[in-house]
Amino acid sequence: MVLRDASRLFLLFTVHCSLFTPFAHRMMAQTSSPDLTRARKVLRSVPLIDGHNDLPWRIRAEVKPPRDVAAYDLRQHTSGHTDLARLAEGQVGAQFWSVYVPGEFKDSGYARIQLEQIDIARRIISHSPDRLALALTAADIEREFRQHRIASLIGMEGGHVIENSLGALRVYYALGARYLTLTHNVTTDWADAALDSARHGGLTPFGREVVREMNRLGMLVDLSHVSPATMSAALDVTEAPVIFSHSAARALVDHPRNVPDSILQRLPANGGIVMVTFVPAFVSAEAAVVDLRHTAREKELKATVADTAERRRALEAWDKDNPQPRATLAQVADHIDHVRQVAGVDHVGIGSDFDGIDRVPIGLEDVSHFPDLLAELARRGWSDADLGKLAGGNLLRVLHQAEAVAQRLQRERQPSTKTIEELDRK
Ligand SMILES: [Zn+2]
Repeated sequence: MVLRDASRLFLLFTVHCSLFTPFAHRMMAQTSSPDLTRARKVLRSVPLIDGHNDLPWRIRAEVKPPRDVAAYDLRQHTSGHTDLARLAEGQVGAQFWSVYVPGEFKDSGYARIQLEQIDIARRIISHSPDRLALALTAADIEREFRQHRIASLIGMEGGHVIENSLGALRVYYALGARYLTLTHNVTTDWADAALDSARHGGLTPFGREVVREMNRLGMLVDLSHVSPATMSAALDVTEAPVIFSHSAARALVDHPRNVPDSILQRLPANGGIVMVTFVPAFVSAEAAVVDLRHTAREKELKATVADTAERRRALEAWDKDNPQPRATLAQVADHIDHVRQVAGVDHVGIGSDFDGIDRVPIGLEDVSHFPDLLAELARRGWSDADLGKLAGGNLLRVLHQAEAVAQRLQRERQPSTKTIEELDRK
């Protein structure tokens, strides 16, 4: 999820609708080439595992009626990026459904919203039992892929949702959450975010205890959205491979949400992966410039205009005068190639952020287009084996490893009863 407020989400709903004309969709479906044939063949033997899709938030906040999973009918062509027919066309084998919770409104009942988001995700999954199945382990993904159902995992976005409680973290795991992004856009009491001020130099002692407890549970540590110092601190303490569920390469696009080469270089030792995202502002340098100017303008308006409606109008006017350049599928492939070059082919994956983004790259308009991305890489010389690693093989390895670490740690130590007051002396 990259959108930052509900008003922006609502405005962009109209953009979504205009993108999905039936004609455009038919045109894409007809594209074929030997590379695409190869990509499709690979995806019949290895599950394509996407790291981040924001459908639960879309159903919660963007569509009417809100929170109504049955009304947002995935069996029909939806107004968003995701429905069952397009998931099948995109050969999606497993999906981390993001259960995003905004962190901007301090103490706004994060845990309640988190529980409701997990409820929405679980209702989405149980509403289509013939096509989707809740997955809690790597073995679940492998089994559901053989059964031709989309293995559905739950990924939490933003460490604020644990409300500084390791007990809450454990209960989220019990409800099915299999990753936690340590921050969203707001620095928490224990971890610095990429797009907020640094208050802790990375992780506090409690933040390090959160990572250790996640390792003990077998919940993946997700380092998208955090600052480079937090990435580094988490890599220092984690015993399991980490993931970046939706990020790109900082060397190609200098956006704070992207991963610097110095961190990519640490992934072989850790075993973790960067799941390259499709967010235009992270994959296109031209789009990043406009996005960062948008953020600066938003900040400026917050400081100078008291009325929220007036502020929103002013920002919308600014957006109209400063249209964001389109990103392309080839640029996404460039980021994948870069991560491969610096970290290695065992440390890259895919994390679209579909239904969490207002704009999409040309060629990656919705979930039906994943095979086109693999076809582009096939064209660039990737072998079938390497395409399989990118698509899902690497994530499966990471999850298997995290599960093995958890089994060992559960033999070695009890659930942590540490508190933030105790560790950070607040
Ligand atoms: Zn996000």
